[in-house]
Amino acid sequence: PEEQFEPDPSKKNLVILGTGWGAVSLLKKLDTENYNVIVISPRNYFLFTPLLPSCTTGTVEHRSIMEPIRSITRHKKAAVKFYEAEATKIDAERKVITIDDNSDIKGASQKTDVSYDMLVVSVGAENATFGIPGVKEHSCFLKEIGDAQQIRKKIMDCVETATFKDQSPEEVQRLLHMVVVGGGPTGVEFAGELQDFFDQDIKKWIPEISDKFRVTLIEALPNVLPMFSKQLIDYTESTFKEEKITIMTKTAVKKVTDKTVEAEATGPDGKKTMEIMPYGLLVWATGNAVRPVVKDLMSQIPAQKDSRRGLAVNEYLVVQGTKDIWATGDCAVAGYAPTAQVASQEGAFLARLFNTMAKTDAIESEIRVLSEGLNVKPGNAAEVSSSIAAHEKQLRRIKDIKPFHYTHQGSLAYIGSERAVADVSWLNGNFATGGGLTYLFWRSAYLSMCFSTRNRVLVVLDWLKSKAFGRDVSRE
Ligand code: FAD
Ligand code: NAD
Repeated sequence: PEEQFEPDPSKKNLVILGTGWGAVSLLKKLDTENYNVIVISPRNYFLFTPLLPSCTTGTVEHRSIMEPIRSITRHKKAAVKFYEAEATKIDAERKVITIDDNSDIKGASQKTDVSYDMLVVSVGAENATFGIPGVKEHSCFLKEIGDAQQIRKKIMDCVETATFKDQSPEEVQRLLHMVVVGGGPTGVEFAGELQDFFDQDIKKWIPEISDKFRVTLIEALPNVLPMFSKQLIDYTESTFKEEKITIMTKTAVKKVTDKTVEAEATGPDGKKTMEIMPYGLLVWATGNAVRPVVKDLMSQIPAQKDSRRGLAVNEYLVVQGTKDIWATGDCAVAGYAPTAQVASQEGAFLARLFNTMAKTDAIESEIRVLSEGLNVKPGNAAEVSSSIAAHEKQLRRIKDIKPFHYTHQGSLAYIGSERAVADVSWLNGNFATGGGLTYLFWRSAYLSMCFSTRNRVLVVLDWLKSKAFGRDVSRE
């Protein structure tokens, strides 16, 4: 039977902000009986981001990679409270968070405060635009489920508009030009998925546009996928060439309008030229920026003065300059890349830390009671003293918590036409691989990582469905 959430005044309020990789991995391993656990997030589900690029073309349906947060909380030993809201302000001095219900349906209570004894900030990051004009207004991002749905709709809208009666050749060319900005893994995986959609499905359904559909990937640095080895970068670039995806490196986008992208390309001689490229769909994937609520918190803590990319944390993930705030994932600066792998290991570490802290609190209070008893009734002093010593020994063992240590399991990215690249560390050696087998490995790795059995089944069915019947080209 499910328990009601009843805050216990003898326990500390542990507030977790977010329902992403960091927060959910903490929640899964946390013994919720030790605290009054409150989770706050504008999203009432966990999102399996590695398969988000596959959602933009319908290889995988969006619901298959979402896991309701309540299906996670309801299995916890003690009830957890969930509020669907955005934390808009964290007051570190008063230990109070202001939360705002920003969904469509609002009740009389819409903006209120929640107080905490312990706080975990796992709010992730927002999309970087570097203040480049027109980006926010005209491009699609690829971070949330709504972004993937919007892209899916727009791809087909471009295709249908391009085939509209009397469309001029220039307009057809523009509408079928799909531009991706940012050659990190998000941009690369999306470009690969898009080309697959075109090659495997759209071309068959609408052959008249066969030779007009183009994908261009723009990257400011000299190569794509900077975190992969040189060999895999070359493999990705040659695969893209075969797939007819144009890669423009050393090209930085400076301005975006509703129909064009303006970029500065640096030639081999160092000469800079401006290029104006008309586009139908523009996907912006240039990485992360700090969320306003995190920026505001940083501004309240003098020790965070020099931190730029997020909340600087110590080796126990405590936010520097605070005692009772921890941070994980993309909003924390712990010296690792902003990845799901890091966030989930950090979340699991905090769960272990908090479970241990609760145990030490319990033992410490037992020692207190025993010591008090010793003062009142000195009769059985020897027995009580040895019990205290045993408790203290246990306490020392538990308190010896090692700092957070990240174990890198490897980097994996899908690059289209059933190929993937992987830098995997095995048996202490680094293993760089690309190709069809890697793709199978990519699929099985994601399946084993996929959260629940329900998600695993749904994703496999989606893969089979899109292979057997083709992806759905209806524009929702
Ligand atoms: P998130 O998972 O982004 O979660 C943040 C949570 O906080 C969300 O629930 C959000 O709704 C909530 N939130 C936001 N604002 C507030 C607020 N004000 N108050 C309360 N809650 C708030 N990494 C890999 O390791 N492997 C991959 O294959 C991979 N693929 C990716 C593919 C894509 C398309 C993208 C975008 C990212 C990918 N990543 C991958 C990176 C990975 O998704 C992130 O590093 C990871 O999500 C970070 O986890 P997090 O918990 O910090 O943030
Ligand atoms: P990223 O930061 O890795 O890459 C963004 C790229 O955009 C950079 O290479 C940058 O040089 C380029 N860029 C920035 N401004 C530009 C401009 N004006 N014009 C042209 N190019 C510009 O971002 P991402 O790909 O979104 O990844 C974010 C994080 O998520 C990373 O840590 C990444 O490892 C992780 N991730 C991992 C996977 C995977 O493992 N398969 C997939 C997606 C994301």
